[in-house]
Amino acid sequence: MSAPIQTAVVVGAGTMGHGIAQVLAQAGISTTLVDLNPDVVKIGHAKIVENLDKGVQKGKLSDADRDATLARLRTATTTAPLSEADLLVEAIPERLELKARLFAEADAVMPAGAMLASNTSSLSIAAIAAATKRPDAVIGLHFFNPVHIMKLLEIVRGPLTSEATLQAARDLAQRLNKTAIVVNDAPGFATSRLGICLGNEAMRMLEEGVASAADIDAAMKLGYGHPMGPLALSDLVGLDVRLNISEGLFTELGTDGFRAPRLLKRLVTLGHVGKKAGRGFYLWNNGEIVGENPAARRQPV
Ligand code: NAD
Repeated sequence: MSAPIQTAVVVGAGTMGHGIAQVLAQAGISTTLVDLNPDVVKIGHAKIVENLDKGVQKGKLSDADRDATLARLRTATTTAPLSEADLLVEAIPERLELKARLFAEADAVMPAGAMLASNTSSLSIAAIAAATKRPDAVIGLHFFNPVHIMKLLEIVRGPLTSEATLQAARDLAQRLNKTAIVVNDAPGFATSRLGICLGNEAMRMLEEGVASAADIDAAMKLGYGHPMGPLALSDLVGLDVRLNISEGLFTELGTDGFRAPRLLKRLVTLGHVGKKAGRGFYLWNNGEIVGENPAARRQPV
């Protein structure tokens, strides 16, 4: 695993996958973005083009860099390109059975020496690695949303991850111009474990009528210096994604802070899953908050 990564496949082209494919391609890696759903692949590719165009407009990127990045990017609706890839980055939904199935499939076809990485927010790398015959090559590469902007890469070392795999992940972080932290394989790692607690409590406060969503978020922004309030951040991440993480962490850690709030479950049932749906705790239009979602208010008895 000492040679630099040249070819990557990102599986899952949703909120995270398209951003991960963008930064890999920008770093000079031939990248294929895969999703089972052809519409998601098209939308993901269009978002990458939009991000790169914005970068050119802002003077952060040359026309030639944009064109070279797009030339390194392919899309697909099957995982066939894995058979020639040095790197898998998996960004499919946060459910262990789905990830384990994909890793078993990837293990069967990827070349020796490849790195098999998951963008999981909270699941056990050991459990994902157990689906393969090469747990030493499996690692967590936890990116943040939006991927092309957020500096952090949380590298999660499973109990069987080799030093060579860890070093290759650190090298990749450097090529991607990300700041890496290395965390052991504990539920929710260093980020989601704290983030979910804060988000869940903010939701319970909204449920109890302590304050409006905007005021709860302003409390954390202006009082604690957070760049974004916990409810707006939950909308950005996706409430379905947050619910999956919260339920997984509650099962693993068992403490009340991780119990999924009823309000979160209700909004997910309604399909009000945040920014991507145009409504969550807030109403969204063109990527901006335009008001609070009446469905997220305390329900009169
Ligand atoms: P998403 O729902 O936006 O996208 C997941 C995509 O995976 C969907 O488009 C779906 O069609 C596709 N998919 C499902 N099974 C597949 C398969 N077998 N093969 C190919 N494609 C498949 O989800 P997301 O928000 O991008 O989250 C993906 C992962 O990243 C999760 O593990 C999540 O916890 C993690 N994560 C999310 C965020 C965030 O802010 N949303 C941040 C960090 C990490």
